[in-house]
Amino acid sequence: MRNPDEVKPDQKGLKPASPTRLKVEVKVDEFGRIQLPADLLSYLGGEAGASLRLVQENGQVLIEPNLHALRRLYIEPTSGCNLKCQTCIRLTWNEPFGAMRWELFEKLCAELKFFPHLQSIMLAGFGEPLFHPDIVRMVEKLKNATSASVEITTNGTLLDEFMAKGLLEAGLDRLWVSFDGTSETSFNDIRQGANFRLVLENVQGMRDLATALDKPLAIGISFVVMRDNINDLKNIEELIQAVGADRVLISNVLPYTEEMERQMLCLLALTCETMAGLPGKPRISLPRLDINYLTKEPIYHLLKGYENLFLVNNAISAPTRSCRFIKDGTTFVRWDGKVAPCMALLHDHITYLYGLERKIKAYFLGDLNQQSLNEIWTSQEYHDFREKVYQFDYSPCHICGGCSYLEKNEEDCFGNTFPVCGGCLWAQSVIQCP
Ligand code: SF4
Ligand code: SF4
Ligand code: SF4
Repeated sequence: MRNPDEVKPDQKGLKPASPTRLKVEVKVDEFGRIQLPADLLSYLGGEAGASLRLVQENGQVLIEPNLHALRRLYIEPTSGCNLKCQTCIRLTWNEPFGAMRWELFEKLCAELKFFPHLQSIMLAGFGEPLFHPDIVRMVEKLKNATSASVEITTNGTLLDEFMAKGLLEAGLDRLWVSFDGTSETSFNDIRQGANFRLVLENVQGMRDLATALDKPLAIGISFVVMRDNINDLKNIEELIQAVGADRVLISNVLPYTEEMERQMLCLLALTCETMAGLPGKPRISLPRLDINYLTKEPIYHLLKGYENLFLVNNAISAPTRSCRFIKDGTTFVRWDGKVAPCMALLHDHITYLYGLERKIKAYFLGDLNQQSLNEIWTSQEYHDFREKVYQFDYSPCHICGGCSYLEKNEEDCFGNTFPVCGGCLWAQSVIQCP
């Protein structure tokens, strides 16, 4: 990674980052109606009769996608893995590990035609997708079944030349690689059983093969940041260059022990509820500024104590008490066919908040072994759950920690019943998934 010869940012086969900003002009007719272009409407899941929510914010009006159009699908190929990372919640599990049956996967693929707004399918979950013996066939099957982009999140250890070639020929669109360190020392310590050099060489090998085969492949880096590896972020640019990544997603660690909670770097951010928009908290708008020895301290103080802060009209504080999975029209299919609304509710697990243990019980809306995905997705229960989470009228357990309801995700003091989302770290933008 330190060798400049290894840096190859102009790889022909690498897919450029997809544009994140699109501007279209629409005309208002004499009745005050506007008609959106068909591809934009499809992107929003705007089928006939659908409700799209308009949000007026910061001098603009945003159109939010239809909550009830399935746009993102996560499939967990297996809950097995060849590593034992320090950061892995699987270390607390009692449940047996397993892999998705091929017949179940085929059934799921056959049902994808009922979801015309599906944009991306992520092969990921709690486990290593490349550990599934049919992973290459899975990618191939998905690419034949749908026009959605197909992505994988991997620990990169099993990505040898044979695997890389298979995935590229199957049509994989994006590879996310978990790099919880940019140095051998911290990476090998956190990702127990993995070797930094080997993973780096595997990803570089796949990148070069993509170029040689002229297969477009986008590469993303997923990074779980903690006290022990925060300094590694200083070298992230070198890692980006070394693997040819166009995206980096940084998450806090999901604390499944008290020690992991101490490793979190967001405890102040968590307790600091966003006051943006509340009376008495005026908005401060910063211009573009150099970050240097003169400005860094005042900027740090503003960032630390002020939530209603904008940088060139963009809010700096992350939206909290809002669920990205629900807003993006996402669903998760677990390896055994059970369907959950999000990563947080895919498996029973334990987290820690303010030193208190919190038992998270998984929540399923259906089972693909008995129902179709369409039946599950369009069921009244799933519809109502999406609406409820969108409203997010749950108790603010993430800043309270004041009663025994916090020990489980089954009830809260606003009278909500299982599953309650008020203490969810994904909803606080503390944990992020690719
Ligand atoms: S690679 Fe992922 S699934 Fe495997 S042990 Fe590490 S965090 Fe867990
Ligand atoms: S249920 Fe209410 S009182 Fe209990 S921890 Fe959550 S917000 Fe606090
Ligand atoms: S808020 Fe959390 S628990 Fe609730 S649906 Fe979203 S990710 Fe799942």
